[in-house]
Amino acid sequence: MKYYSTHRQSPPATLEEAVIGGLAPDGGLYMPERIPTLDDAVIRSLKDRSFHEIATLVAQAFFGEDLEADALAEIVREALSFDTPVVPVSDGIYSLELFHGPTLAFKDVGARFMARMLGYFIRRKGIERQVNVLVATSGDTGSAVANGFLGIPHIRVFVLYPGGKVSPIQERQFTTLGQNITALEIDGAFDDCQALVKAAFADRELNRRLLLTSANSINVARFLPQAFYYFHAWAQLDRAGRAGRLTVCVPSGNLGNLTAGLFARRMGLPVRHFIAALNRNDVFREYLQTGLYRPRPSVTTLANAMDVGHPSNFARILDLYGQDHAAVVQDISGYGYTDEQIAATVREVRHTHRYLLDPHGACGYRALIDRRLQPGETGLFLETAHPAKFKETVDRITGLPVEIPPRLQAFMQGKKQSTPLGKDFNGFKNFLLTQHLVN
Ligand SMILES: *Cc1c(COP(=O)(O)O)cnc(C)c1O
Repeated sequence: MKYYSTHRQSPPATLEEAVIGGLAPDGGLYMPERIPTLDDAVIRSLKDRSFHEIATLVAQAFFGEDLEADALAEIVREALSFDTPVVPVSDGIYSLELFHGPTLAFKDVGARFMARMLGYFIRRKGIERQVNVLVATSGDTGSAVANGFLGIPHIRVFVLYPGGKVSPIQERQFTTLGQNITALEIDGAFDDCQALVKAAFADRELNRRLLLTSANSINVARFLPQAFYYFHAWAQLDRAGRAGRLTVCVPSGNLGNLTAGLFARRMGLPVRHFIAALNRNDVFREYLQTGLYRPRPSVTTLANAMDVGHPSNFARILDLYGQDHAAVVQDISGYGYTDEQIAATVREVRHTHRYLLDPHGACGYRALIDRRLQPGETGLFLETAHPAKFKETVDRITGLPVEIPPRLQAFMQGKKQSTPLGKDFNGFKNFLLTQHLVN
């Protein structure tokens, strides 16, 4: 299968080229030239299959032409070593818990899958140079990518994060690993980290001397695998007799997760409607309501993994719907919430339904309530992270300490190793040029 750029200014790429390259040379995002469909009988049979079987099926449909079945099955098996259960929260509303992976957030799925697929293509292509993955993070992306790529041969990961601006738990998750993971503590804000990464990709000399790629959700190997758990969730609801009239609500930032859901639907998954749940950074809701897209700098909120003012996968959604606003709004609605509304939702759901939401999942739950589903309809929201990942915030909201799962506690015992760097590009560039393969 070939992948075209949303800008349509560079030639179609193979999967291998798209995964190694990340962004298309013309600056667009790669899209598969067609979306394979699963027939109805297969969809109906999902309820009798395991997550692993479902993921393999969907992966084969998408990537089957481009790598051997054995290799793909192994990538799926290694990437998805944990479950994504659906649990009931309140009347007709279910939570898809995506936080049972190593760093307790949904990004584990895409990061682990991409790491293994990229590793496979590097081997197959016989690339002998070190491949450098650059990732800017405000917290969650860095931990998922660092843990996902840990120990993968020929790949070196540089995580750029704003010093003093990520939570201690998040910082530990990417600064204590060592091996092929290098944490760079930038004296600046998240935007400075992102600017450094962008400048690196644009720097001719750096790209001549080093192989650079990105592990953000622009990479097809990171965002497409997220379709797997939509199928698995539907299978679980079907088993419970609740898959009939389904609305799926996705707490959104860069819109990668939502886009994967839209792909799942195009593949034949019977989802009636999607909701993008947002915080105060709601340019996408504004687009849905007005047809105008006005990206702007993000503001800080309690659901900080969704603090995005210019969502990168917006381009993919527009492309999927042929730039037709009316078609987009037929399938997707948007809701945005203030910090006060997020906090009130966490408190209320904990009190009334004994379910502890994290600030991102709270936006998702609340949007399903505000959507006012009819009796017999089912609402499913994606619980994108474990509440303990945002312990300081959640403790403050509920007045009760969240219990830290052992996996998170283990990170707190590690020793922090990071390299402090300024936010000027030349210092960063010189640092990269002195780094050599460690494994
Ligand atoms: C990354 C993230 C999101 C946003 O996902 P996108 O794919 O960028 O829309 C939501 N919640 C949490 C906890 C995240 O880490």
